[in-house]
Amino acid sequence: MEERKFEKIESIKVEGLDEILGIPFMVLNDGFVRVVDYMGSDQSIVQAARVSYGKGTKQVNQDRGLIRYLMRHRHTTPFEMCEIKFHVRVPMDCWRQWIRHRTANVNEYSTRYSLAIDAAQTTEPDQWRVQSKSNMQGSEGVLNNQIGLDFSKEEEKLHDLSRDIYNKRIGAGIAREQARKDLPLSTYTEAYWKIDLHNLLHFLELRMDSHAQLEIRKYSETIGYEIVKRWVPIVWEAFEDYRLKSFQISGPELEIIKHINKSDFDSVELLAEGLGWLEKRADGSLKQNLERIEFEEKLSRLNLKLPW
Ligand SMILES: Cc1cc2nc3c(=O)[nH]c(=O)nc-3n(C[C@H](O)[C@H](O)[C@H](O)COP(=O)(O)OP(=O)(O)OC[C@H]3O[C@@H](n4cnc5c(N)ncnc54)[C@H](O)[C@@H]3O)c2cc1C
Repeated sequence: MEERKFEKIESIKVEGLDEILGIPFMVLNDGFVRVVDYMGSDQSIVQAARVSYGKGTKQVNQDRGLIRYLMRHRHTTPFEMCEIKFHVRVPMDCWRQWIRHRTANVNEYSTRYSLAIDAAQTTEPDQWRVQSKSNMQGSEGVLNNQIGLDFSKEEEKLHDLSRDIYNKRIGAGIAREQARKDLPLSTYTEAYWKIDLHNLLHFLELRMDSHAQLEIRKYSETIGYEIVKRWVPIVWEAFEDYRLKSFQISGPELEIIKHINKSDFDSVELLAEGLGWLEKRADGSLKQNLERIEFEEKLSRLNLKLPW
């Protein structure tokens, strides 16, 4: 039998990422994200995607085209060939959202075993956000600076008090696992967080979105723009084009857009009515409808408007 020849394989290094290995990118007042280790690059994705044809890497422009094709068509497994491990420091409330992403491997600092991290996320007087009226989960605008100053002072008092009580419990010999129970959600935790590129992009798509909470958005923007962009620049470009800067249009929305383009506003109204977008309050004004508001945002990105 003829002896099979295998091409030589060298471990893949990404210079841009090697330069920042271990260097923390600061987030919020005392959080950070840093890369501990990684595997793969743009080339690994191309290599994996081409394995079925028995062909290796081609010209850079062909590789770019392939990655963009994979991204557009959600052919996701080649992206799973890349992995990255972060060391992160995040306030507990933000971490609670982060940890919902089940497709990562996590090892978190233990406050049963060690003393809780003596740092909490603080809020500047001009950063107290106001509850959004249109989105129950969101915020819009900030409190006036003078009022904010009071809340920031109270925040400091609360942090001091909870720290003092925690230290008193520890000093009295109370177990760390119990002493921690009244620490605020603003207390920082640290973890090693390892994830493949496909699931990382999914995390970023959800957590860089304007609907995600500002704090986790700051972490995901740091991961995206400071780290992933250096690590896999071709993937990042495709991700921006086909995910971050793109948006989905539903079937009914598409029908409405067609009618707007034909100036057939009776049909627009009929369709909108069918979707329950035109329900009115007693005073005749339109009731709030989240789907309609989201559609209006999409239309404004297309330089279009609903006729009312
Ligand atoms: C803006 C926003 C608001 C949110 N609000 C809330 C809220 O009010 N309450 C709340 O509880 N959560 C909330 N979440 C969390 C959200 O529901 C998800 O749990 C979280 O974003 C993780 O997403 P994921 O499951 O897609 O990610 P991952 O857990 O990383 O999973 C990635 C993908 O793997 C697949 N997968 C993973 N595990 C399973 C499984 N067991 N079965 C089937 N498929 C699986 C799915 O396709 C999934 O999309 C919110 C998230 C966002 C972004």
